[in-house]
Amino acid sequence: MTDLNRTAFQKSDRPLENLEIDTLVVGAGQAGVAMSEHLTNQGVPHIVLEKSRIAEAWRSGRWDSLVANGPAWHDRFPNLEFPVGPDEFPAKEQVADYFVTYAKRFNAPIRTGVEVKKVTRNLGRPGFTVETSEGTLQALRVVSATGPFQRPVIPAIAPKDASIQQIHSAQYYNPQQLPEGAVLVVGAGSSGVQIADELNRAGKRVFLSVGAHDRPPRSYRNRDFVWWLGVLGLWDAEEVQPGREHVTIAVSGARGGETIDFRRLANEGITLVGLTKAFADGKVSFQDDLVKNLQLGDENYLGLLDAADAYIERNGLDLPEEPDARKVFPDAECIRQPILELDLAAAGITSIIWATGYAVDFDWLQVDAFDDKGKPKHQRGVSREPGVYFVGLPWLSRRGSSFIWGVWHDAKHVADHIATQRKYVEYQDASQREASSQTPVQKAASWE
Ligand SMILES: Cc1cc2nc3c(=O)[nH]c(=O)nc-3n(C[C@H](O)[C@H](O)[C@H](O)COP(=O)(O)OP(=O)(O)OC[C@H]3O[C@@H](n4cnc5c(N)ncnc54)[C@H](O)[C@@H]3O)c2cc1C
Repeated sequence: MTDLNRTAFQKSDRPLENLEIDTLVVGAGQAGVAMSEHLTNQGVPHIVLEKSRIAEAWRSGRWDSLVANGPAWHDRFPNLEFPVGPDEFPAKEQVADYFVTYAKRFNAPIRTGVEVKKVTRNLGRPGFTVETSEGTLQALRVVSATGPFQRPVIPAIAPKDASIQQIHSAQYYNPQQLPEGAVLVVGAGSSGVQIADELNRAGKRVFLSVGAHDRPPRSYRNRDFVWWLGVLGLWDAEEVQPGREHVTIAVSGARGGETIDFRRLANEGITLVGLTKAFADGKVSFQDDLVKNLQLGDENYLGLLDAADAYIERNGLDLPEEPDARKVFPDAECIRQPILELDLAAAGITSIIWATGYAVDFDWLQVDAFDDKGKPKHQRGVSREPGVYFVGLPWLSRRGSSFIWGVWHDAKHVADHIATQRKYVEYQDASQREASSQTPVQKAASWE
């Protein structure tokens, strides 16, 4: 636990056993911190329980060299800037420190090192019973801020061969942790592509399995892509386009930020392959879709350039032309003759990194808030189970929802909803007002 994590939050160290609180926030990543700020502004008594440290995912759930995928001016909350230049990409520890500093600013009632193990709805009385690693408490409302990426997913096709070291991208820290030999990186979203690039630069032989992806230009005509997605309204898109649910986004802030160009990576020595299909008899097979996946990625890239050009023209902006952005690297051998099968031993592959994403895990939240596939049912974070809320989930209200700047706005909506609900509960009719003016009574459903 860092000093920053210890200092600000000890004053809320009331025993949790039998505590009665209006709103419990579970998780103190960016979503939990944003939630706490808005609840504080609304005067809602609350506590945030975090099983590890504030913004833990940014400390131990990411590789050592990771920097934010978006520049500091953009990937932040509205009320605090990063202590780096606006166009720089903060390192992951700086991102974690940012949230600790942010939480200290309003003395967020965060309790670290406490896991919420079970939440159940009370019967015949308001609220929820919350079992934690430090006792059982009562909360009228529960906000899940446990993150968009809770459980690393390794697909069932992963080989059982113990001689190959296999890790998820969440367990990758640096090239030194891998055994000698070549590595297969499965998945070419922002994590897979950055890890593959780092390993290639470290001198490893790298195979990168590429599926469907978007790959916006890092910048175009003097504007970062986050700006383009903003002005074009794409961060605020409210629904995933049908058929694009599994399309990942390949971007990077590494080395000051550069466009992910798979053809360039192939020219630099990475062997690209299509989607990983199966492992059998010491061999791995790939779909014959590499060229198609690259083409679709190019279309996405060029589509954004076109949209940016049209925006500039329509608005008469004075932004310099950038014809080089449309230049295409020559196809390397692995693109001209895609590999459909590899003998793992012959290729020298001794490790596999599964950059295959995450699932959510709500085992602890035992309430009627999920569909039959275990997916939260909610509208902009307001669950169908009264008193339960979600923040930080992908596409909670829009494309930006699971990102730093997006979750802040979603959390505000949820806090406003909670404040409104409290107003209804606090309402008293004339006879109640008369009675309470004579004998002050404790409000049944407004716990401090
Ligand atoms: C590699 C990578 C790079 C990213 N880069 C960027 C970027 O540059 N810019 C950007 O905007 N977004 C980025 N994101 C997306 C997103 O911002 C992060 O995933 C971010 O960590 C999500 O914040 P969160 O608070 O929603 O969830 P988390 O950071 O995962 O926080 C959830 C917290 O809940 C705690 N918790 C979980 N269960 C319990 C429980 N039962 N009891 C108590 N506590 C619990 C966890 O310990 C954790 O601290 C990136 C994501 C990844 C994976």
